[in-house]
Amino acid sequence: MNTGTSTQDHFADELHRIDQAGNLRTLRTAVHDGKHIIVDGRRMLNLSSNDYLGLAADGGMLSTFLSSLDDRVPAMSSSSSRLLTGNYPEFDHLERQLAASYGKEAALTFNSGYNMNMGILPAISDTSTLILADKLVHASLIDGLRLSAAKCIRYRHLDYRQLTDLVEKYASTYPRIIIVTESIFSMDGDIADLALLADIRKKHGNILLYVDEAHAAGIRGAHGLGIAEEQGCMDDIDFLCGTFGKALCSVGAYVACSAVAREYLINKMRPFIFTTALPPLNAAWTSHVWERLPDMDDRRRHLAAISEKLRTCIARTGECRSQSHIVPLILGASTDATDKAEELQANGFYVLPLRPPTVPARTSRLRFSLTAAIGDEDVAKLIKELEK
Ligand SMILES: *Cc1c(COP(=O)(O)O)cnc(C)c1O
Repeated sequence: MNTGTSTQDHFADELHRIDQAGNLRTLRTAVHDGKHIIVDGRRMLNLSSNDYLGLAADGGMLSTFLSSLDDRVPAMSSSSSRLLTGNYPEFDHLERQLAASYGKEAALTFNSGYNMNMGILPAISDTSTLILADKLVHASLIDGLRLSAAKCIRYRHLDYRQLTDLVEKYASTYPRIIIVTESIFSMDGDIADLALLADIRKKHGNILLYVDEAHAAGIRGAHGLGIAEEQGCMDDIDFLCGTFGKALCSVGAYVACSAVAREYLINKMRPFIFTTALPPLNAAWTSHVWERLPDMDDRRRHLAAISEKLRTCIARTGECRSQSHIVPLILGASTDATDKAEELQANGFYVLPLRPPTVPARTSRLRFSLTAAIGDEDVAKLIKELEK
């Protein structure tokens, strides 16, 4: 009788191998207390959060939202796909808000950034499409590439010379080319030159630009719309994407695009069609936060200031490519990264090691992810600790 033992052994052997390489991942329960996090009974400053505007740590905005509801609480479940009975007015409202903010014809929301990225690329491409993606795009975009029928080439990270060469080489072969990038990259905190990509797009009639602003939405640009706003090229991006789960203190994701692109996605994108929509209550909360985004300049300015201080400190010890609030300290070996993370945690700083396969081999690192909830005094203490 097959008891499944050999399969279990196979799993255990593989886990052992991952562990030996210093790359085993485990789930640890996290209790949140403002800007602090309590893990394994240890209370630490949270330096690993994506709550970039500090809205989750603060709670004030949530109270305002909840008291604005009175007894008209939106549904806690949409009970169905948007295409069946799940298209509550809260979604229409949110999408109109997003489109207006970006000055686009339309917007469409999704259940998560992962869903968005793995869904849009296969939907908008076919065998006569060429996708040119930055080597370091997020796993969700890689999965989108894998699921698409297009030919995909990954250009070297931020290497726009190579990208230009590829475009020149293939522009007449493929009816459609899609350039895919993040704006702020999640592993190094460096930033794409979207204005330059917009120029490349303008030179040809058959290029679409797809930009994922997951780490920039809310915290960059004069109104918090992201790097595209900061670099003045929102009109040149065909699929301007962002997520609500990070700075926006909510969940879900969005694309701002043309009306025809939106209609196309509604008809073609499987992770949009075949899933229950997020709770309308959640869409109402996202709208509440989005409406107040332009007024959060103080938070954005503070985040920029503390990020600059930390980058300056890290740059003294070695290379620092970061241009944002995501600041890596590259250590190389996975065990060095885990040891250093453990040391910092013991001293009250919750920072996590990033190891392969999340980052390339031999570039294991600590990733500091700053938020507006973190004070100047906190950063001063951290810098002192790092310079010990
Ligand atoms: C976090 C992230 C996503 C995934 O978004 P979720 O809403 O968490 O699924 C997508 N792209 C990038 C670049 C991200 O950092």
